[in-house]
Amino acid sequence: MSSSTKVVGQSNTTEEVVAALHGRSSFVFVSHVKPDGDTLGAGLALGLALKALGKRVGYFQQDPVPRNLRFLPDAELVAREVPTDLPADTLWVFCDMSDFSRAGEFLPKIERANMLDIDHHLGNSHFGALNYVIATEASTGTCVLRLLKALDTEITPDIATCILTTIMTDTGAFMHTNTTAEVLRMSAEMIDLGADKPLITEEIFANKRFAATKLLGSALERAALEDDGRYCWTYVDEEMLRACGADGEDTEEIVQHLRAVDGVEAAALFKDYEGAVRVSLRSSGKINVQAAAATLGGGGHFMASGLTFEGDLKSAVEAVHAALRAQGL
Ligand code: AMP
Ligand code: MN
Ligand code: MN
Repeated sequence: MSSSTKVVGQSNTTEEVVAALHGRSSFVFVSHVKPDGDTLGAGLALGLALKALGKRVGYFQQDPVPRNLRFLPDAELVAREVPTDLPADTLWVFCDMSDFSRAGEFLPKIERANMLDIDHHLGNSHFGALNYVIATEASTGTCVLRLLKALDTEITPDIATCILTTIMTDTGAFMHTNTTAEVLRMSAEMIDLGADKPLITEEIFANKRFAATKLLGSALERAALEDDGRYCWTYVDEEMLRACGADGEDTEEIVQHLRAVDGVEAAALFKDYEGAVRVSLRSSGKINVQAAAATLGGGGHFMASGLTFEGDLKSAVEAVHAALRAQGL
């Protein structure tokens, strides 16, 4: 991001954001619904740094912290309740969401003047008074790392663990195409500073519940291969969850198995439970799944996106198929 040219709606400079961080006394970090290691790790990292500077820091998240992220430093401070005695200068920092609505329905009314939007999604709506949006970054955590360096605070082992978690989450443990040399250098730097990579690997990428493994089998059994092998999709519904003793947190790795099938250009997982059909889309590099999701009210990145569909599973399957074909499937 250039610090010399700036148009309305574009991202603020690092200096502008850092000045705001120094200028405020209190912060609440907000994660998106169905939180992942990026939304949570980015907020916890910056929160830890601001606490060390003597600031008041809180964390809001509509959903509980998923089992596999409870190892993160300060994860136990994340709550749906908002303190009633927040200072008037509290800055609400939204991490890893293309729009305010991704925070859910339980936030109090917040003035735009008190919102900072830190993100790396395509099509971010720049909903904050301050927006630190860098779509070329691998994770929101690496956007935060830029801020930490400009804040000139110590990157402690705990902070380094949070930042490395954001990177490993959004690169699929260094597998996705966003794993650039720069990302690997930043990761090495975090490990040098004390990030616990074995812990992250174990908690997020190993340590699967037996229920998750059974659910994976059940979903793969139902997988369909269409469009001459270019499109692979499956679903998980309430009955499958019940039969496997699984819950929504156990669905995470299913879609990557579909995308990994030889010849597949787009993969979709339909999650038909909790009163909605949520869809995870993945691309192998040719189909822009962010654009496909955006036509149905969702968003994300070129290679990974998602949406919540208004309607039943059958309509969702048809609408997503049409949206992917419109992107060249
Ligand atoms: P997921 O499939 O849940 O791992 O999400 C993949 C990507 O799509 C992430 O970058 C999410 O932030 C984004 N995403 C998922 N669901 C939605 C949604 N309903 N609206 C906008 N973006 C979404
Ligand atoms: Mn996320
Ligand atoms: Mn992210």
